[in-house]
Amino acid sequence: MTDNKDLLAITHIGEDPKKYMNAVTPPIFMNSLHVFDTVDEYFAVDIFKDEYYYGRASNPTVTILEKKLAALEHGSRAVVFSAGMAACAAAILAVCKAGSHVICIRESYGPVQHLLDEFLCRKYNIEVTYVEGKSLKDFEEAIRPETDMIILESPTTLVFSVIDLEGVAQLAKKHGIKTYIDNTYCSPIFQKPLDMGIDIVMHTMTKYIGGHSDLIGGVLISKDEEFMRNIMVQRDWFGGVIGPMEAWLAIRGLRTLDVRMQRHHETAMEVAKYLEKQPKIRCVHYTGLPSHPQYELARKQQKGESGLLSVEVEGDLKDVATFVDSLKLFGKGASWGGFESLAIAYTYNWSDEDLATHGWNRNIVRLHCGLEGTQNLIDDLKQALDKIN
Ligand SMILES: *Cc1c(COP(=O)(O)O)cnc(C)c1O
Repeated sequence: MTDNKDLLAITHIGEDPKKYMNAVTPPIFMNSLHVFDTVDEYFAVDIFKDEYYYGRASNPTVTILEKKLAALEHGSRAVVFSAGMAACAAAILAVCKAGSHVICIRESYGPVQHLLDEFLCRKYNIEVTYVEGKSLKDFEEAIRPETDMIILESPTTLVFSVIDLEGVAQLAKKHGIKTYIDNTYCSPIFQKPLDMGIDIVMHTMTKYIGGHSDLIGGVLISKDEEFMRNIMVQRDWFGGVIGPMEAWLAIRGLRTLDVRMQRHHETAMEVAKYLEKQPKIRCVHYTGLPSHPQYELARKQQKGESGLLSVEVEGDLKDVATFVDSLKLFGKGASWGGFESLAIAYTYNWSDEDLATHGWNRNIVRLHCGLEGTQNLIDDLKQALDKIN
Protein backbone atom coordinates (compact mmCIF):
# COMPACT_ATOMS: atom_id res chain seq x y z
CA MET A 1 0.00 0.00 0.00
CA THR A 2 1.20 3.46 -0.83
CA ASP A 3 1.98 5.69 2.10
CA ASN A 4 -0.80 8.25 2.56
CA LYS A 5 1.78 11.03 2.77
CA ASP A 6 2.88 10.10 -0.75
CA LEU A 7 -0.68 10.56 -1.93
CA LEU A 8 -0.80 14.03 -0.37
CA ALA A 9 2.51 14.89 -2.03
CA ILE A 10 1.25 14.02 -5.49
CA THR A 11 -2.07 15.75 -4.99
CA HIS A 12 -1.68 18.84 -2.79
CA ILE A 13 1.73 19.37 -1.18
CA GLY A 14 3.64 22.39 -2.46
CA GLU A 15 0.53 24.15 -3.76
CA ASP A 16 -1.25 27.21 -2.39
CA PRO A 17 -4.28 28.11 -4.53
CA LYS A 18 -4.77 31.35 -2.57
CA LYS A 19 -1.60 32.64 -4.19
CA TYR A 20 -3.09 32.18 -7.65
CA MET A 21 -6.69 33.32 -7.36
CA ASN A 22 -7.95 29.97 -6.01
CA ALA A 23 -7.25 28.17 -9.26
CA VAL A 24 -7.38 24.45 -8.50
CA THR A 25 -4.23 23.81 -10.52
CA PRO A 26 -1.20 26.08 -10.37
CA PRO A 27 -0.45 28.39 -13.29
CA ILE A 28 2.54 27.98 -15.57
CA PHE A 29 4.73 30.91 -14.52
CA MET A 30 5.87 31.60 -18.06
CA ASN A 31 8.19 34.44 -17.13
CA SER A 32 11.95 34.81 -17.36
CA LEU A 33 12.26 37.39 -14.59
CA HIS A 34 10.49 39.10 -11.72
CA VAL A 35 10.34 42.87 -11.26
CA PHE A 36 10.55 44.92 -8.07
CA ASP A 37 9.63 48.40 -6.87
CA THR A 38 12.93 49.22 -5.18
CA VAL A 39 16.65 48.45 -5.16
CA ASP A 40 16.35 47.03 -1.64
CA GLU A 41 13.49 44.71 -2.56
CA TYR A 42 15.51 43.33 -5.45
CA PHE A 43 18.58 42.64 -3.31
CA ALA A 44 16.53 41.14 -0.47
CA VAL A 45 15.46 38.12 -2.58
CA ASP A 46 16.41 34.76 -1.04
CA ILE A 47 16.03 31.97 -3.60
CA PHE A 48 16.19 29.32 -0.85
CA LYS A 49 13.01 30.75 0.70
CA ASP A 50 10.87 30.49 -2.42
CA GLU A 51 11.58 34.04 -3.56
CA TYR A 52 12.25 34.77 -7.18
CA TYR A 53 14.22 37.19 -9.32
CA TYR A 54 15.38 35.32 -12.44
CA GLY A 55 14.09 32.15 -14.08
CA ARG A 56 17.42 30.40 -14.35
CA ALA A 57 17.78 30.51 -10.55
CA SER A 58 14.20 29.53 -9.70
CA ASN A 59 10.60 29.70 -10.90
CA PRO A 60 7.36 29.34 -8.89
CA THR A 61 5.96 26.48 -11.03
CA VAL A 62 9.29 24.67 -10.76
CA THR A 63 9.25 25.14 -6.96
CA ILE A 64 5.85 23.42 -6.66
CA LEU A 65 7.22 20.40 -8.48
CA GLU A 66 10.35 20.40 -6.30
CA LYS A 67 8.33 20.45 -3.08
CA LYS A 68 6.28 17.47 -4.21
CA LEU A 69 9.36 15.46 -5.20
CA ALA A 70 11.23 16.30 -1.98
CA ALA A 71 8.20 15.13 0.04
CA LEU A 72 7.82 11.96 -2.04
CA GLU A 73 11.46 10.91 -1.60
CA HIS A 74 11.65 12.01 2.06
CA GLY A 75 14.34 14.57 1.21
CA SER A 76 14.86 18.08 2.51
CA ARG A 77 14.90 19.66 -0.94
CA ALA A 78 14.65 18.63 -4.58
CA VAL A 79 16.21 20.43 -7.54
CA VAL A 80 14.86 19.72 -11.02
CA PHE A 81 16.79 19.88 -14.28
CA SER A 82 16.21 19.99 -18.02
CA ALA A 83 16.98 16.23 -18.29
CA GLY A 84 17.86 13.22 -16.18
CA MET A 85 21.38 13.43 -17.58
CA ALA A 86 21.69 17.09 -16.49
CA ALA A 87 20.73 15.99 -12.98
CA CYS A 88 23.22 13.11 -13.06
CA ALA A 89 26.05 15.30 -14.35
CA ALA A 90 25.25 17.94 -11.71
CA ALA A 91 25.52 15.35 -8.92
CA ILE A 92 28.85 13.96 -10.13
CA LEU A 93 30.31 17.44 -10.59
CA ALA A 94 29.11 18.51 -7.16
CA VAL A 95 30.61 15.50 -5.38
CA CYS A 96 33.81 14.90 -7.37
CA LYS A 97 36.89 16.93 -8.18
CA ALA A 98 39.84 16.39 -10.52
CA GLY A 99 41.57 13.18 -9.38
CA SER A 100 38.49 11.71 -7.68
CA HIS A 101 37.81 8.02 -7.91
CA VAL A 102 34.26 6.84 -8.62
CA ILE A 103 32.75 3.38 -8.24
CA CYS A 104 29.90 2.74 -10.65
CA ILE A 105 27.84 -0.38 -11.21
CA ARG A 106 28.54 -2.00 -14.56
CA GLU A 107 24.86 -2.19 -15.55
CA SER A 108 24.22 1.53 -15.05
CA TYR A 109 22.52 3.59 -17.77
CA GLY A 110 24.83 3.77 -20.81
CA PRO A 111 25.10 7.57 -21.22
CA VAL A 112 26.26 7.85 -17.58
CA GLN A 113 29.20 5.62 -18.48
CA HIS A 114 29.90 7.72 -21.59
CA LEU A 115 29.89 10.87 -19.46
CA LEU A 116 32.34 9.23 -17.05
CA ASP A 117 34.63 7.49 -19.55
CA GLU A 118 34.70 9.89 -22.45
CA PHE A 119 34.46 13.21 -20.64
CA LEU A 120 35.17 13.22 -16.91
CA CYS A 121 38.00 10.68 -17.05
CA ARG A 122 39.65 12.23 -20.10
CA LYS A 123 39.28 15.88 -19.23
CA TYR A 124 39.19 15.93 -15.43
CA ASN A 125 41.39 13.01 -14.50
CA ILE A 126 38.57 11.24 -12.70
CA GLU A 127 38.99 7.47 -12.41
CA VAL A 128 36.17 4.95 -12.50
CA THR A 129 35.97 1.35 -11.35
CA TYR A 130 32.99 -0.57 -12.67
CA VAL A 131 31.70 -3.32 -10.40
CA GLU A 132 28.99 -5.93 -10.76
CA GLY A 133 27.65 -4.87 -7.38
CA LYS A 134 25.62 -7.93 -6.46
CA SER A 135 27.90 -8.51 -3.48
CA LEU A 136 29.10 -5.89 -0.99
CA LYS A 137 32.59 -7.29 -1.48
CA ASP A 138 32.59 -5.83 -5.03
CA PHE A 139 32.37 -2.34 -3.52
CA GLU A 140 34.65 -3.03 -0.58
CA GLU A 141 37.45 -4.20 -2.87
CA ALA A 142 37.10 -1.21 -5.20
CA ILE A 143 37.33 1.48 -2.50
CA ARG A 144 40.49 3.61 -2.56
CA PRO A 145 41.58 6.56 -0.39
CA GLU A 146 40.48 8.93 -3.18
CA THR A 147 37.04 7.32 -3.73
CA ASP A 148 34.45 10.09 -3.45
CA MET A 149 31.30 8.64 -4.97
CA ILE A 150 29.41 5.39 -5.56
CA ILE A 151 26.95 5.45 -8.46
CA LEU A 152 24.08 2.97 -8.20
CA GLU A 153 20.93 1.95 -9.97
CA SER A 154 18.55 -0.62 -8.51
CA PRO A 155 16.98 -2.44 -10.15
CA THR A 156 19.00 -1.88 -13.31
CA THR A 157 16.99 -1.50 -16.48
CA LEU A 158 17.97 -4.36 -18.75
CA VAL A 159 18.23 -7.51 -16.61
CA PHE A 160 16.99 -5.86 -13.40
CA SER A 161 19.86 -6.61 -11.04
CA VAL A 162 19.27 -5.45 -7.47
CA ILE A 163 21.82 -3.73 -5.21
CA ASP A 164 21.79 -4.06 -1.41
CA LEU A 165 21.17 -0.36 -0.78
CA GLU A 166 21.41 -0.40 3.02
CA GLY A 167 24.60 -2.43 2.84
CA VAL A 168 26.30 -0.13 0.32
CA ALA A 169 25.15 2.99 2.20
CA GLN A 170 26.63 1.72 5.48
CA LEU A 171 29.90 0.75 3.84
CA ALA A 172 30.18 4.10 2.04
CA LYS A 173 29.49 6.08 5.23
CA LYS A 174 32.34 4.28 7.01
CA HIS A 175 34.68 5.55 4.28
CA GLY A 176 33.23 9.05 3.88
CA ILE A 177 31.97 8.27 0.37
CA LYS A 178 28.78 9.79 -1.08
CA THR A 179 26.22 7.37 -2.52
CA TYR A 180 24.00 8.21 -5.49
CA ILE A 181 21.17 6.17 -6.98
CA ASP A 182 19.14 6.41 -10.16
CA ASN A 183 15.72 5.49 -8.70
CA THR A 184 13.79 5.91 -11.95
CA TYR A 185 12.75 2.27 -12.32
CA CYS A 186 10.83 2.05 -9.04
CA SER A 187 9.72 5.69 -8.91
CA PRO A 188 9.32 7.16 -5.41
CA ILE A 189 6.12 5.11 -5.01
CA PHE A 190 7.94 1.77 -4.81
CA GLN A 191 11.36 2.61 -3.32
CA LYS A 192 12.74 5.23 -0.88
CA PRO A 193 16.54 5.04 -1.07
CA LEU A 194 17.18 8.07 1.19
CA ASP A 195 15.48 6.18 4.05
CA MET A 196 17.95 3.34 3.46
CA GLY A 197 20.89 5.70 3.92
CA ILE A 198 21.64 6.60 0.28
CA ASP A 199 22.77 10.26 0.05
CA ILE A 200 21.42 11.40 -3.33
CA VAL A 201 18.46 10.18 -5.39
CA MET A 202 18.08 10.94 -9.09
CA HIS A 203 15.04 10.42 -11.31
CA THR A 204 14.63 11.08 -14.93
CA MET A 205 11.16 12.63 -14.98
CA THR A 206 11.06 11.68 -18.66
CA LYS A 207 9.90 8.23 -17.55
CA TYR A 208 7.26 7.52 -14.86
CA ILE A 209 7.06 10.93 -13.18
CA GLY A 210 6.11 12.64 -16.43
CA GLY A 211 4.34 9.45 -17.40
CA HIS A 212 2.86 10.64 -20.70
CA SER A 213 5.92 10.63 -23.00
CA ASP A 214 5.61 14.37 -23.49
CA LEU A 215 8.56 15.85 -21.58
CA ILE A 216 12.27 15.54 -20.81
CA GLY A 217 13.39 16.36 -17.27
CA GLY A 218 15.37 15.17 -14.25
CA VAL A 219 15.62 15.69 -10.51
CA LEU A 220 18.06 15.34 -7.62
CA ILE A 221 16.85 14.90 -4.04
CA SER A 222 18.75 14.57 -0.76
CA LYS A 223 18.15 14.86 2.96
CA ASP A 224 21.23 17.13 3.14
CA GLU A 225 19.87 20.68 2.85
CA GLU A 226 23.29 22.32 2.45
CA PHE A 227 24.22 19.93 -0.36
CA MET A 228 20.94 20.66 -2.15
CA ARG A 229 21.43 24.41 -1.81
CA ASN A 230 24.81 23.98 -3.48
CA ILE A 231 23.15 21.95 -6.24
CA MET A 232 20.63 24.75 -6.75
CA VAL A 233 23.41 27.33 -7.08
CA GLN A 234 25.36 25.04 -9.40
CA ARG A 235 22.26 24.65 -11.60
CA ASP A 236 22.15 28.42 -11.88
CA TRP A 237 25.79 28.50 -13.06
CA PHE A 238 25.36 25.69 -15.59
CA GLY A 239 21.89 26.77 -16.67
CA GLY A 240 20.37 23.27 -16.80
CA VAL A 241 17.05 24.39 -15.34
CA ILE A 242 13.78 22.90 -16.58
CA GLY A 243 11.30 25.11 -18.44
CA PRO A 244 8.07 26.08 -16.62
CA MET A 245 5.93 24.25 -19.20
CA GLU A 246 7.78 20.96 -18.63
CA ALA A 247 7.62 21.50 -14.86
CA TRP A 248 3.87 21.95 -15.11
CA LEU A 249 3.50 18.81 -17.20
CA ALA A 250 5.54 16.91 -14.59
CA ILE A 251 3.20 18.18 -11.85
CA ARG A 252 0.25 16.93 -13.88
CA GLY A 253 1.99 13.61 -14.46
CA LEU A 254 2.63 13.25 -10.73
CA ARG A 255 -1.08 13.47 -9.89
CA THR A 256 -1.62 9.98 -11.26
CA LEU A 257 1.79 8.49 -10.45
CA ASP A 258 0.42 6.15 -7.78
CA VAL A 259 -2.48 4.76 -9.84
CA ARG A 260 -0.31 4.41 -12.91
CA MET A 261 2.45 2.59 -11.01
CA GLN A 262 -0.06 0.14 -9.51
CA ARG A 263 -1.46 -0.61 -12.97
CA HIS A 264 1.96 -0.89 -14.65
CA HIS A 265 2.93 -3.31 -11.87
CA GLU A 266 -0.20 -5.49 -12.20
CA THR A 267 0.05 -5.60 -15.98
CA ALA A 268 3.78 -6.34 -16.11
CA MET A 269 3.34 -9.06 -13.46
CA GLU A 270 0.71 -10.84 -15.59
CA VAL A 271 2.77 -10.38 -18.75
CA ALA A 272 5.91 -11.70 -17.01
CA LYS A 273 4.04 -14.79 -15.73
CA TYR A 274 2.60 -15.41 -19.20
CA LEU A 275 5.97 -15.05 -20.92
CA GLU A 276 7.69 -17.31 -18.40
CA LYS A 277 5.46 -20.19 -19.58
CA GLN A 278 6.19 -19.74 -23.29
CA PRO A 279 8.58 -22.29 -24.86
CA LYS A 280 9.92 -19.64 -27.29
CA ILE A 281 11.02 -17.51 -24.34
CA ARG A 282 14.22 -18.73 -22.68
CA CYS A 283 13.84 -16.60 -19.57
CA VAL A 284 12.13 -13.52 -18.17
CA HIS A 285 13.93 -10.85 -16.13
CA TYR A 286 11.55 -9.19 -13.66
CA THR A 287 12.06 -8.62 -9.94
CA GLY A 288 8.42 -9.55 -9.25
CA LEU A 289 8.98 -13.17 -10.31
CA PRO A 290 10.12 -15.62 -7.61
CA SER A 291 12.53 -16.97 -10.27
CA HIS A 292 14.49 -13.68 -10.11
CA PRO A 293 17.83 -14.53 -8.44
CA GLN A 294 17.49 -11.57 -6.04
CA TYR A 295 13.76 -11.85 -5.41
CA GLU A 296 14.20 -11.74 -1.61
CA LEU A 297 16.37 -8.61 -1.65
CA ALA A 298 13.91 -6.90 -3.99
CA ARG A 299 11.05 -7.72 -1.59
CA LYS A 300 13.04 -6.21 1.28
CA GLN A 301 13.68 -2.83 -0.34
CA GLN A 302 11.00 -2.39 -3.01
CA LYS A 303 7.24 -2.13 -2.54
CA GLY A 304 6.72 -3.14 -6.14
CA GLU A 305 8.17 -3.15 -9.60
CA SER A 306 7.22 -1.14 -12.62
CA GLY A 307 6.13 -1.92 -16.17
CA LEU A 308 9.60 -2.63 -17.54
CA LEU A 309 10.86 -6.19 -17.96
CA SER A 310 12.96 -8.15 -20.40
CA VAL A 311 12.98 -11.57 -22.02
CA GLU A 312 15.53 -13.71 -23.79
CA VAL A 313 14.03 -15.06 -26.98
CA GLU A 314 14.87 -18.64 -28.07
CA GLY A 315 16.52 -18.93 -31.46
CA ASP A 316 18.79 -16.82 -33.61
CA LEU A 317 18.88 -13.10 -34.39
CA LYS A 318 16.31 -13.52 -37.16
CA ASP A 319 13.86 -14.93 -34.61
CA VAL A 320 14.53 -11.98 -32.28
CA ALA A 321 13.79 -9.52 -35.09
CA THR A 322 10.70 -11.45 -36.18
CA PHE A 323 9.31 -11.34 -32.64
CA VAL A 324 9.92 -7.62 -32.16
CA ASP A 325 8.85 -6.59 -35.67
CA SER A 326 5.62 -8.60 -35.37
CA LEU A 327 4.46 -6.76 -32.25
CA LYS A 328 1.68 -4.35 -33.12
CA LEU A 329 0.81 -2.66 -29.82
CA PHE A 330 4.41 -2.37 -28.63
CA GLY A 331 6.07 0.54 -30.39
CA LYS A 332 9.74 0.04 -31.22
CA GLY A 333 11.56 2.65 -29.21
CA ALA A 334 14.20 3.43 -26.64
CA SER A 335 12.34 4.99 -23.73
CA TRP A 336 9.80 3.74 -21.17
CA GLY A 337 7.63 5.00 -18.32
CA GLY A 338 4.88 6.50 -20.47
CA PHE A 339 1.32 5.32 -21.08
CA GLU A 340 2.40 3.27 -24.07
CA SER A 341 3.96 -0.14 -24.51
CA LEU A 342 7.40 -0.36 -26.10
CA ALA A 343 9.77 -3.06 -27.29
CA ILE A 344 13.45 -2.88 -28.09
CA ALA A 345 15.92 -5.57 -29.16
CA TYR A 346 18.40 -4.01 -26.79
CA THR A 347 21.57 -6.03 -27.41
CA TYR A 348 20.77 -6.92 -31.05
CA ASN A 349 23.74 -5.07 -32.55
CA TRP A 350 26.16 -5.19 -29.61
CA SER A 351 29.81 -6.20 -30.15
CA ASP A 352 31.06 -9.54 -28.81
CA GLU A 353 33.31 -7.59 -26.46
CA ASP A 354 30.48 -5.55 -24.91
CA LEU A 355 28.34 -8.66 -24.54
CA ALA A 356 31.19 -10.50 -22.82
CA THR A 357 31.70 -7.63 -20.33
CA HIS A 358 28.17 -8.17 -19.05
CA GLY A 359 27.79 -11.88 -19.72
CA TRP A 360 24.79 -11.12 -21.96
CA ASN A 361 23.67 -12.34 -25.38
CA ARG A 362 22.00 -10.70 -28.39
CA ASN A 363 18.57 -12.21 -27.68
CA ILE A 364 17.52 -9.79 -24.94
CA VAL A 365 14.31 -7.91 -25.74
CA ARG A 366 13.16 -5.24 -23.32
CA LEU A 367 9.44 -4.64 -23.01
CA HIS A 368 7.64 -1.73 -21.41
CA CYS A 369 4.12 -2.71 -20.42
CA GLY A 370 1.97 0.38 -20.87
CA LEU A 371 -1.63 1.07 -19.98
CA GLU A 372 -3.34 -0.52 -23.02
CA GLY A 373 -4.72 -3.42 -20.96
CA THR A 374 -3.15 -6.70 -19.89
CA GLN A 375 -5.13 -8.97 -22.23
CA ASN A 376 -4.41 -6.75 -25.23
CA LEU A 377 -0.69 -6.93 -24.51
CA ILE A 378 -0.73 -10.70 -23.96
CA ASP A 379 -2.69 -11.20 -27.22
CA ASP A 380 -0.13 -9.09 -29.07
CA LEU A 381 2.81 -10.99 -27.55
CA LYS A 382 1.14 -14.31 -28.41
CA GLN A 383 0.64 -13.48 -32.08
CA ALA A 384 4.24 -12.19 -32.31
CA LEU A 385 5.63 -15.38 -30.71
CA ASP A 386 3.51 -17.43 -33.17
CA LYS A 387 5.33 -15.73 -36.04
CA ILE A 388 8.64 -17.27 -34.95
CA ASN A 389 9.16 -20.60 -36.75
C1 LIG B 1 16.16 7.58 -19.71
C2 LIG B 1 17.05 7.30 -18.54
C3 LIG B 1 17.95 8.27 -18.06
C4 LIG B 1 18.17 9.58 -18.75
O1 LIG B 1 17.12 10.47 -18.62
P1 LIG B 1 16.96 11.74 -19.57
O2 LIG B 1 15.84 12.49 -18.98
O3 LIG B 1 16.70 11.21 -20.95
O4 LIG B 1 18.26 12.49 -19.53
C5 LIG B 1 18.67 7.96 -16.93
N1 LIG B 1 18.55 6.78 -16.29
C6 LIG B 1 17.72 5.83 -16.73
C7 LIG B 1 17.61 4.54 -15.98
C8 LIG B 1 16.95 6.05 -17.87
O5 LIG B 1 16.14 5.09 -18.32
